[in-house]
Amino acid sequence: MHFIDFIRGRKLKFKILLLFVLILVLPLAVLMGITLDRISRKAAEDFKSKLGYAASLFRESLEDQLDSLKIRAKTVADFDFYTLAGVGFNAETTVPLMQYELVRSGLDYIAIIKNRAEVVVEQGTPPTESLLKIIPAMCHSPLNVNLYVIGDEPWIFAAAMITKFKSEQPQHVIFAQRLPRDFADKLKSLTGAEFSLNYAGNRILTSQMDIYSKRNIGRILDNPDLKSGQMQITSRSHSFVREEALKGQISETIRLEIALPDSEYNTLGQTIQRDFIVLGLFGLALALATGTVLSWHIAGPINSLAESTSLVTRGAMSVLPITVRKDEIGDLSNNFREMVISISNEKEMKEQRVRELNTLFEISNAVNLFTDSEELLKFVLTQGIDALEAERGSIMLLDDSTDELIVKVASGGRYRVFAGNPVKLGNGICGQVAKSGSGIICNDGFKDPRFRNFGSLMPVEDIQSLICSPLKFKDGIIGVINIVNKRNGSEFKDSDLSLLNLIASQAAVTIENNKLYELSITDGMTRLFVHRYFQARLAEEVLRARRYGLTMSLIMMDIDNFKKFNDTYGHQVGDQVIQKVAQSIRETVRTGIDVPCRYGGEEMAVIFPETRAEEAFQTAERLRERIAAITVQHSSGDLRITVSIGVSSYPVHAHDRESLIKVADKALYASKGAGKNRSTLAPEPGQV
Ligand code: GH3
Ligand code: MG
Ligand code: MG
Repeated sequence: MHFIDFIRGRKLKFKILLLFVLILVLPLAVLMGITLDRISRKAAEDFKSKLGYAASLFRESLEDQLDSLKIRAKTVADFDFYTLAGVGFNAETTVPLMQYELVRSGLDYIAIIKNRAEVVVEQGTPPTESLLKIIPAMCHSPLNVNLYVIGDEPWIFAAAMITKFKSEQPQHVIFAQRLPRDFADKLKSLTGAEFSLNYAGNRILTSQMDIYSKRNIGRILDNPDLKSGQMQITSRSHSFVREEALKGQISETIRLEIALPDSEYNTLGQTIQRDFIVLGLFGLALALATGTVLSWHIAGPINSLAESTSLVTRGAMSVLPITVRKDEIGDLSNNFREMVISISNEKEMKEQRVRELNTLFEISNAVNLFTDSEELLKFVLTQGIDALEAERGSIMLLDDSTDELIVKVASGGRYRVFAGNPVKLGNGICGQVAKSGSGIICNDGFKDPRFRNFGSLMPVEDIQSLICSPLKFKDGIIGVINIVNKRNGSEFKDSDLSLLNLIASQAAVTIENNKLYELSITDGMTRLFVHRYFQARLAEEVLRARRYGLTMSLIMMDIDNFKKFNDTYGHQVGDQVIQKVAQSIRETVRTGIDVPCRYGGEEMAVIFPETRAEEAFQTAERLRERIAAITVQHSSGDLRITVSIGVSSYPVHAHDRESLIKVADKALYASKGAGKNRSTLAPEPGQV
């Protein structure tokens, strides 16, 4: 389960490699295992049968040797001594007989033993003192034979009881013979095995030859207790086994060591094993190479496809390189590539569309954001420049009375505003656009023959490319929008002009709407905000101050004795005075922050957002002094007027719009009551 999970988590490359290794190497390894097992079993069988044959041959030969010794001893005991029964032992008769028998039988020692211990007569070399130990045991049974080691040499003994010779003590004939040194050589030539008899760590008989052709009799080099193993004999590997040869009744165990040269099957197994390993390594290398090539050829492209799909899924539109492969993977790769390209194009188009819609929305919404028309134009222009990814641009509006285009705002580039001369309809690129009502792309910039320099401060060489679209409202042209130089240095395209046309038409509507709106909230005579706007703004500012914990103030102003002024100098002069007072107010308060209004008739009001009562009072005083300094020329001399002002503030004096007006009004009347031409700060509640 673990292995399967492990494999599942791997990459395709790894799986292919693993598959190849398994397919090529695994069967080979199994085959090798089976073959080697068969061979080694065959080798073991072969060795066992050869060993069995060699061992039984050795034993039989030894038995034969012993048997013949036994028979001869018995013959001597039964026959030769029978004839001597009446005569008894004596040297003259026995010794020659024994000498004869010694020579005839190739014995090393012959003796007659009385009473299982006493040597009556002997011939040959006595096999040392151990004879005394051997003989009693030997004579114990009527006929006994055995193998003994005496003085590092293997001896065989045979004993026979002399039965024909009537005596009170038992008498025996003893035959002893050294096992011939070449005893094992014949067996070696028959079986191919090396034979040794080992005793007490020594080789007492061996068929092995040393390099000087001497018998390798001496100490056993390896551990003599080892029952089986490997040994080198004349630089050839042999397997040996050691087993008990024949167990004497007195001597220690004599072991027969049979060493067989390694079975042919063994050698064959080794050769096959070597071949298999070489072949296996070759197969592994082949599998790795094939697997790698396949991985590279199949898994590699699939892998990079997979990576690309992951990227695409995460939103990164990474496009694969074109594949020249003609197979399914090539098709897959190329189709995927096409798919990503088309998705990415579509995505780009959609994003572009969203950007365009956003721009149009921003422009149409701009009316609500800007009260100042220049600010509005600047905003519209900035939107246009950004949407076209251009460097800079300008908006020119058409003056209906002169039929001239006048730069109203410019943005971007090195200069914030570039003053230019008014451009007549039909002149230059912008003039042509305003006249014809259709946009122009001019990718030659200042080199275009239609291009004119209208005294711009900007170096005209900076204009590489230009795009100009008319600001159309209803059926009329109200101006143009100029966009200069793509930021990336490329040319303007038709799609840019389409977009700019869209922007321009939306901008024209917005500009016109703004114009209408401005008209609707501005008093024509004073260019101050109208009463309705005053009420709305005041409510708004009180709300804002309340929400944000701010202070705000209000001043109300009334021209002193104006009825009389009117009556004396006429309404027209009165209107002039009102206009001058309004101008003073506009010039004194903070543009875009304070809200100067015509409250009604010859009464004005100013809203001061985020202004404390004292500050508003100071402004009121400054205003009053400034108005007092106004002169209106008249046939009867320079005319002057004064104003009275009342100041109230949120939250010290009142908490809502109506109360604020009421308190300011009250303060204004306090000014009137106190002699006019003065400002009065409303008393804080609690004060009188
Ligand atoms: P007071 O100092 O108490 O204010 O005295 P007043 O004469 O100014 O009194 P009041 O403020 O009530 O007078 C308002 C006069 O302002 C009435 C009207 O003739 C005159 N007036 C109002 N609107 C206009 C206007 O638009 N143009 C002209 N020329 N006069 C106006
Ligand atoms: Mg009044
Ligand atoms: Mg008045």
